[in-house]
Amino acid sequence: MFKKIPGTKDILPEEASWWQKIEDISRKIFSIYNYTEIRPPLIEEAGLFNRSLGKSTEIIRKQMFLIKKKNDVYALRPEGTASIVRAYIENNLQKKSPFIKLYYLGPMFRLERPQMGRQRQFHHLGCEAIGAHDPCLDVEVISLVDRLLKAYAIEGYKIKINSLGCIKDRKELTQLLNKGLRDKRGSLCTDCRLRFKNNILRVLDCKNKSCRDIIEKLDIQDGHLCGECKTHFIQVKKGLDSLKVDYQAAPYLVRGLDYYTSTVFEVTHQDLGAQDALGAGGRYDSLVSDLGGPDVGAIGFAFGMERLLLVSRCQSIKAPKENLVYVVSLGEEAKRQNLKLLNELRQAGIISDTDYEARSLKGALRRANDLGARYVLITGEDEIKKGVVTLKDMVSGEQREVKSDDIVEDLKRA
Ligand code: AMP
Repeated sequence: MFKKIPGTKDILPEEASWWQKIEDISRKIFSIYNYTEIRPPLIEEAGLFNRSLGKSTEIIRKQMFLIKKKNDVYALRPEGTASIVRAYIENNLQKKSPFIKLYYLGPMFRLERPQMGRQRQFHHLGCEAIGAHDPCLDVEVISLVDRLLKAYAIEGYKIKINSLGCIKDRKELTQLLNKGLRDKRGSLCTDCRLRFKNNILRVLDCKNKSCRDIIEKLDIQDGHLCGECKTHFIQVKKGLDSLKVDYQAAPYLVRGLDYYTSTVFEVTHQDLGAQDALGAGGRYDSLVSDLGGPDVGAIGFAFGMERLLLVSRCQSIKAPKENLVYVVSLGEEAKRQNLKLLNELRQAGIISDTDYEARSLKGALRRANDLGARYVLITGEDEIKKGVVTLKDMVSGEQREVKSDDIVEDLKRA
């Protein structure tokens, strides 16, 4: 027997309905904020991610699903931003409108060690607003994060924000850390000793206690930010205050990817355990031009769908019972007639189904009940002779005969 590969999941029908709920809520709210959907391919040239995310990042070093074909190397996308920026440039989207707001949903792939909250195929739900540096846009995007989380009926989340500054400021911060940590390298955890070499900014948000102590002693606040970036960040915080978005300034918050600049943010939830990030995002003001596009600012975020579902209360909000009509045929002639009836019901937009397992009347009614059917239509020899069907109301238990020719209209009215 074949089994699914580690780190992947079957989303079974019952669970899929909760996914649809989160997706429906998201689509509605994204459209209220005037975002439209984009669906880039799941595979891209591997070089796109190497260039965008940065060669020394964990994703590029260890987690890419690569497909080699002669001289080409493709990658299953590990995240959405790089593909969307590629699509923005390649399709000349800036020609129609230099400023564009896009959202996306779909699977992402990272070759991680599978564990609770970490899969090899997981799903992102996110957005990108490309074409502006305005701090009010950062405020809109972070308040959209807040709005979505409330709509998913998630409580107890924390929004943490920070500013990495522009590319120059980031370099300054990198140098600061290099200097501050050089002679303390031996006391850092194994991961951070590697980070010191490959991606020193990530030392800042290490959760290890001894690393935290060392970092806190360096007392890094916003000294590395230039005047413009400082003002930008102040405006973002003021805007969030004015919208009463609850956030925490987190001076040690950094993101794992090279393209982030200026405002960065992360949403955490304590019920998630060790992998406590529900989602994250930030500005990437140099990425569009780095990939060959115009020099425009941009900001986006992505939530992990699986993690949203773990903490959303929407699973306990019962979906209203659909008005399913269950059609029962007693005998071959009834079956033939009901084939047509089912077609007419569905043409009229009435959700309907029937029994294909030759159940008895009692068995078919039990099945209708299990499916949560609102009405059952029964056709047997008697009904055929009289040109009627028996309509059973599964809520009141009442039953009556309705002329076959009238049943679709009758149910439409009901
Ligand atoms: P990132 O692009 O790493 O910032 O991811 C954004 C969000 O996606 C995270 O906050 C998680 O909720 C989710 N996520 C990232 N990697 C995984 C994974 N391997 N399995 C499940 N969810 C993930």
